[in-house]
Amino acid sequence: MKLNPADAGDPVRWKHHAASLLGVPKGRIYHIQPLKRSLDARQKVVFRLKAEIYIGEHYPQDERIIKRSYPDVSHRPPVIIVGAGPAGLFAALTLIGNGFRPVILERGKDVKSRKYDISLLNRGERLNGDSNYCFGEGGAGTYSDGKLYTRSTKRGDVASVLRTLVEHGASDDILIDAHAHIGTDKLPNIIASIRRTILESGGEFYFNCRVSGLITARGKIKGVIDQNGQEFMAPHVILATGHSARDVYQMLMDHGLLIEAKPFALGVRIEHPQQLIDSIQYRMPDRGEHIPAASYSLVTQAAGRGVFSFCMCPGGTIVPAATAEGEMVVNGMSNSKRNSAYANSGIVVAVEESDWHSYMDDGPFAALRLQQETESKAWSAGGTSFGSPAQRMVDFMNDTFSNTLPVCSYHPGLVSVELKEILPAFVTDRLRVAFEAFDRKMKGYLTNEAVLTAVESRTSSPVRIFRDEKSLMHPQMKGLYPCGEGAGYAGGIVSSAMDGQRVALAIAGKSFAPVPGTEDKY
Ligand SMILES: Cc1cc2nc3c(=O)[nH]c(=O)nc-3n(C[C@H](O)[C@H](O)[C@H](O)COP(=O)(O)OP(=O)(O)OC[C@H]3O[C@@H](n4cnc5c(N)ncnc54)[C@H](O)[C@@H]3O)c2cc1C
Repeated sequence: MKLNPADAGDPVRWKHHAASLLGVPKGRIYHIQPLKRSLDARQKVVFRLKAEIYIGEHYPQDERIIKRSYPDVSHRPPVIIVGAGPAGLFAALTLIGNGFRPVILERGKDVKSRKYDISLLNRGERLNGDSNYCFGEGGAGTYSDGKLYTRSTKRGDVASVLRTLVEHGASDDILIDAHAHIGTDKLPNIIASIRRTILESGGEFYFNCRVSGLITARGKIKGVIDQNGQEFMAPHVILATGHSARDVYQMLMDHGLLIEAKPFALGVRIEHPQQLIDSIQYRMPDRGEHIPAASYSLVTQAAGRGVFSFCMCPGGTIVPAATAEGEMVVNGMSNSKRNSAYANSGIVVAVEESDWHSYMDDGPFAALRLQQETESKAWSAGGTSFGSPAQRMVDFMNDTFSNTLPVCSYHPGLVSVELKEILPAFVTDRLRVAFEAFDRKMKGYLTNEAVLTAVESRTSSPVRIFRDEKSLMHPQMKGLYPCGEGAGYAGGIVSSAMDGQRVALAIAGKSFAPVPGTEDKY
C-alpha cells in the first residue's frame, strides 16, 4: 500500500486503504499484519507498507512478540563474558538458551548510574574513564541513536535480535521499519530489562569490574582477574570489550597473544540545521508532524579512497565520546522522536596501512597510535574541557579561519580552529573533494551554515584480535573468544549483537552464520 504520511502510522486507515485497494468491504478485513514500512521521498513523500491482509479469516497470534522463556541456568557451567555491550548481552541470552550460566564482568556502572557520569561529561566537567559514552552497561550503543540497520542480513539472525529488543520493551515498529531506530531515551530501560532476564535465569552481573589480566595454563584460559585482584574462573571467556578498551589490547599483548593493526576511518562530524536537510531531501520548507526528520547516506571516492557518511543522526545531538582525558572524540545520538533542530553525521575517510607507516615501530598499535595522536591534537586545540575544535564548512573548503561559529547541539561548546591543524592532509584533502561531490548529490549540502567538529575517529576498531574462523577462539588460547566490535568482527549494535550470538553458539557446539568479511556501516 502506498500511504500518505498521516495514515502511515494508523492501522485503522490501513484497513480503509486495503479495502478500497482490494475491493472488499472493510468489515471483511479482520486483521492487517504489517511486514515492512519504508519512506519513499523520490517524488512526493509517501510511505510504502507491505502487509498480510486477513480477509474473513482471523490472524494467528504474532509469535514475534511473545516473550520467550529462558531456562534456569543457575547450576549450569559458567561462561565469563567481559563487557556488557550488545555483543556481551546477546552472547549471555544465547548462552542461557543453550544451558550455560553467563557471568558478566563490566568495567562501568549499571545503565542508570551511568547517566550521572554522562551528564557531567555533557557539561564539560569531568570524564570518568570507566563510565562514559562508550563504557558502562549497554556498551557504546546505549546512549546513541539506536539505529538498527545492518548490511549483515545474511550473516546472522537479525530478526531474532530485533525480536529480543521488542521482548524487552522496544516498540514493535522496529520489526517493520526499513530504517528502524530506538532512541537514547528508550534504550536504557531496554538494557535494564535484558539484565533482569539474565539475572532471573541465574546469570550473574558484576559492575565496576575492570578485567586487567587473564588466568591461563598451558595455552588454555582458566579465568580472568579484575583491577582489585579478584579472580573469576571459567573454562570459556568471551572478550567483548568494544573498540575503545585500549588497555585490553595491551593486556593481550602482555600475554603474548596475537593482535594486528587494521584499517579504520577518520574525519569529522558535520552538523546542519535539520530544516535544511529536510528541505533538500523532501523539497518542502516544512515537513509537518507526520514526516520524520530527513536523513541521508552519502558515499564517494576521493583520490582512490572511500569517503562516506557514518552514523547519521537526524534531529540529533553531537556528543563527547572519548574514554580518557587528553582525547577529543565526537559522535552522535538522538532520542526516539528525533526532534532536535540539528542533523549530524560522521563524514570519514577510509584509513589504510600506508597512512600509519610512520608508526610502524608500534607494531599492532600503529593504526591506534594515529587515531590516538589525532584525538590528542583535537583535545589540546579544543581547550581541554571537552570543547570541540570546529570550523564552518565553507571556511574549511576555503582554508580560512571561522570568525564566528553557528549554534550547535554539542553541549560542552565549540572552539574555532582550522581543522587542518588537527587532521592529517590525506583526510582534509579528501574531505574537500567529497564535500563538492556531496553537494552535487544534495544541492545546498555545502553551506557555511554547516559546522565541522573534530574528531570522528571511533568509527571502528583500529586493532583486530586474531580468531580462528571455525572455533571462534583465539588461535593461541583455547577457550578465549574475541567478540564484537572491539575484536574487529562487527560494527554497530545489530552486527555486534549477532557476533555475540555467534560466539555463544560456538561455545554450545552449535552451527552459526559465517562472520561478515567487512564491518558493518550504520
Ligand atoms: C555515541 C554513539 C552512538 C552510536 N550510535 C549507533 C547507532 O545508532 N547504531 C549502531 O548500530 N551503532 C551505534 N554506535 C556503535 C555501537 O554502539 C557499537 O558498534 C556497539 O555498541 C559495539 O558493541 P560491542 O558489544 O562489541 O562493544 P561495546 O558496545 O563497546 O561494549 C563493550 C563493553 O565492554 C566494557 N569493557 C571494556 N573494557 C572492559 C574491561 N577491561 N573489563 C570489563 N568490561 C570492559 C565496556 O564498558 C562496554 O560496556 C554508536 C556508538 C556511540 C559511541
